[in-house]
Amino acid sequence: MFNLILFGPPGSGKGTQSEKLISKYGLKHLSTGDLLRSEIAGQTPLGLEARNFMDKGQLVPDEVVIGMISSALDANPEAAGFLFDGFPRTEAQAEALDKLLKLKKTGIHLMLALDVSEEELVSRLLNRGKTSGRSDDNNETVIRARIAEYHKKTSAVADYYKKFDKVKQVKGEGSIDEIFAALCKEVDRKSGK
Ligand code: AMP
Repeated sequence: MFNLILFGPPGSGKGTQSEKLISKYGLKHLSTGDLLRSEIAGQTPLGLEARNFMDKGQLVPDEVVIGMISSALDANPEAAGFLFDGFPRTEAQAEALDKLLKLKKTGIHLMLALDVSEEELVSRLLNRGKTSGRSDDNNETVIRARIAEYHKKTSAVADYYKKFDKVKQVKGEGSIDEIFAALCKEVDRKSGK
């Protein structure tokens, strides 16, 4: 099994690069943002609760997203590995993920952290907002709040994995293919390909 975290601030290209990575390496994509948006679309109680936080650019409570990831892991016992996208976003989530994976006799092998400047992030997100249909991409105040949440709560998650020497920083600016090649180099190195 090979389990990968694709890490980086909102707008750093996690979704785009995740699609390419899962198809090349045969991993199961677990994006908490996508899971939450599908709960909202289905108007479930969880979705209705999560929406209050997402509309303000705030993080959804840890227990909600940890529960969702736990169910998704259980639902995919045959997966060759997982790509976590947008999760974990707090240290509590990172610790919970370690415990869940340990129960399945596995763990995180690598965290790839995409580096993108803040002005580039805001411009990408506003641009994405024109077509994504995501209300949290349309409003610069909400975008800045999401980036602030990243600095306040999420960037520390990279420090958590650095302690275990699992983090590789990759430049997230350039063409999609250039960034993808840089990510693949790190995956291949780590997985011994
Ligand atoms: P994303 O699609 O990853 O940009 O996530 C969109 C929004 O969903 C975020 O701004 C948060 O409100 C919420 N969200 C997604 N993943 C998480 C997570 N791991 N922890 C808390 N909130 C999350």
